[in-house]
Amino acid sequence: MQRIYGTAFFNEKALAEHVHRLEEAKKRDHRKLGRELGLFTFHHWAPGAAFWLAHGTTLWNLLAGYMRESLFPEGYVELRTPLVYNKQLWETSGHWAHYEENMLRVESEGETYSLKPMNCPGHMLVFASEVRSYRDLPIRYHDQSVLHRDEASGVLAGLTRARQFCQDDAHCFVAPDQIAGEVERLLRLVQRVYADFGLEFAVELSTRPETFLGETATWDQAEAQLREALEAAGQDYRIAEGEGNLYGPKIDFHVVDAIGRNWQCATIQLDYQLPERFQLKYIGEDNAEHRPVVIHRAIFGSFERFIALLIEHYAGAFPLWLAPVQAVVVPIADRHRDYAESAAARLRAAGLRVEVDARQEKMGYKIRSAQLRKVPYMLVTGDREAAGGAVAVRHRRDGDLGASPVDDFIAAALDEVRRRGARDRVQATHR
Ligand SMILES: [Zn+2]
Repeated sequence: MQRIYGTAFFNEKALAEHVHRLEEAKKRDHRKLGRELGLFTFHHWAPGAAFWLAHGTTLWNLLAGYMRESLFPEGYVELRTPLVYNKQLWETSGHWAHYEENMLRVESEGETYSLKPMNCPGHMLVFASEVRSYRDLPIRYHDQSVLHRDEASGVLAGLTRARQFCQDDAHCFVAPDQIAGEVERLLRLVQRVYADFGLEFAVELSTRPETFLGETATWDQAEAQLREALEAAGQDYRIAEGEGNLYGPKIDFHVVDAIGRNWQCATIQLDYQLPERFQLKYIGEDNAEHRPVVIHRAIFGSFERFIALLIEHYAGAFPLWLAPVQAVVVPIADRHRDYAESAAARLRAAGLRVEVDARQEKMGYKIRSAQLRKVPYMLVTGDREAAGGAVAVRHRRDGDLGASPVDDFIAAALDEVRRRGARDRVQATHR
């Protein structure tokens, strides 16, 4: 009896949690918030491809810049590579045989081309375009260019299943004995990046599948190096036996959002096949030619998917460093407008993203409207503030914070941006 009672209670609680989660998921739906916050829109003439509106483009650029800043100190260089390639490239890479139905074709002058579904083959061409020495390795190419995959229109779903997307894609070309060291660096980088967004994650190492390309011994070595890297980086992981790719083992990252849902984002994949197909080589210390190994890796995964995740994770209330509009200056009456504009100009000069709400509406209305747009700070300016060179600060979650000299507000806001403050803001979204 006791046990049955206990189970029933557990189920009721689980049911309540489940219902709560469904409601939260609906409120946080990135398609709904994307429209309300002016981030992006779609049109049926461009199925599966987003139109990024002003605020969405700001957010995108912030993420793209953040990723560049994170990668340059790690020794990456950024490339911009073609979007359309002759089918011969895809025959060489093996995509034409295995992936053709997912690629968008283009015909020109009797030749068949395709829009790229991934950056890897283009990066192989760049690597092969020069003589490489062991001294140059690892070589790390980063590329944020546009990709297309021909998803059936029935399965397209906002930003999470799109036909057009970009990745924070990179390929690291390493000598076989550099795998463990490179993967360990990568793991530490992924840990840092996710911490900046307050995201928890679980890691999975996928090993040799039943059907695979290459030698068993090579696979064993590769898997051993991945394990070594995971342990060196102090990363917990579970093993997904036999779930590796045809061409190499991989490490996948499953991000858990604020309401406990799983998103597959980052991936680190070892590849021995593309270097073979493209005949890549470097000159070793022994003066002989050797084959490099390629590590495919992305941390956000696709920008589109990652932005969908962030919108739903933060419920649209982005932390200050990511908020498309960081503050709205609200003049109380028309006569405070000039002062509001001059305060806003000082904030902008300091690098903050600021708007002035000079509409002829009541204060309460303008505050509510900024709250609905989830703008982090509202800066009210009236007679007292204008006389004292101040703004009355209101935070979207914490309410009134009192008056502050403009310069003090700027210093505090810049500090909050620098700290990113991901963790405390995420907790706020739990409420
Ligand atoms: Zn790749």
